[in-house]
Amino acid sequence: IKKTASKYAKGATPVKQAAVLGAGIMGGGVAYQSASKGTPIIMKDIRPEALELGLSEANKLFNGQVERGRLTTAKAFKAMNAIVPALSYGEFEHVDLVVEAVVENVKVKKSVLAETETKIADDAILTSNTSTISITELAKDLKRPENFCGMHFFNPVHRMPLVEVIRGEKTSDAAIAKTVAYAQAMGKTPIVVNDCPGFLVNRVLFPYFAGFSLMMEEGADFQQVDKVMERFGWPMGPAYLLDVVGVDTAFHADQVMAQGYPDRMKHEGKNAVDRLFELERFGQKNGQGFYTYE
Ligand code: NAD
Repeated sequence: IKKTASKYAKGATPVKQAAVLGAGIMGGGVAYQSASKGTPIIMKDIRPEALELGLSEANKLFNGQVERGRLTTAKAFKAMNAIVPALSYGEFEHVDLVVEAVVENVKVKKSVLAETETKIADDAILTSNTSTISITELAKDLKRPENFCGMHFFNPVHRMPLVEVIRGEKTSDAAIAKTVAYAQAMGKTPIVVNDCPGFLVNRVLFPYFAGFSLMMEEGADFQQVDKVMERFGWPMGPAYLLDVVGVDTAFHADQVMAQGYPDRMKHEGKNAVDRLFELERFGQKNGQGFYTYE
């Protein structure tokens, strides 16, 4: 995988200044990872409280590195300062690459991407961290679709090595090269994949969630299923993983997968994720999902 990625990154100039849209679970994680590996990053959100949370999560991670003796206080301080919180597009004209990480909704993403495109330089690369939405679809209203591709990180960003770099119908080789190079600079293992709903990893993961939901409808106990999957050797079971991912994100992603693969992914009536979503039990992010968190 590493060799192939290096082939794709050939000739790319490094990203000197990055930006991320959204300071949530993923946006905050991308900001931390970028800053910790030396690429300054603007973290933009529309809610000040989201920025505060994103910054405090990054701070916690840097402090953890200092406590474990992996980072000096001075280096942690410098890295923390490389994350610049923003509520506006102020400095976006100097950005080389943007990672969009707002809510998993086609309409919202399209409007945010179109707006961002007007704020960045003509040769800057725009990417989306969408979990499931087709990159070709997201590119439809963009003026420079050749400069757009998917950059799909996994949660938690600082621990998960893989990044899917997704080539849309009009994505240029230069955009892929820059994105792959940035993923490598962040210490990640990029793979270049073709465009389809769910790309590679979520085409495997979401049918697994669907299988779990079906068992729930048949009366299975989610805690028992989680325990069994842990015994099977996986770090966590599906219910806990859904709480980590965010039930709201999984709900939206599930709709995209059902539309993309109706024969396999469409379900009759409401399943467990639908019901939790309706109850606004979004998982760890708001303290209640399948499980309850302090
Ligand atoms: P989240 O709900 O934690 O964060 C989303 C953030 O986007 C919020 O802080 C919100 O205020 C902000 N936002 C909304 N509109 C905005 C706008 N116009 N401009 C700037 N910020 C805006 O969600 P998340 O889990 O971080 O997911 C973000 C994206 O990453 C989604 O597309 C999701 O599918 C994808 N993703 C999520 C995971 C996961 O495990 N949670 C993994 C991989 C990819």
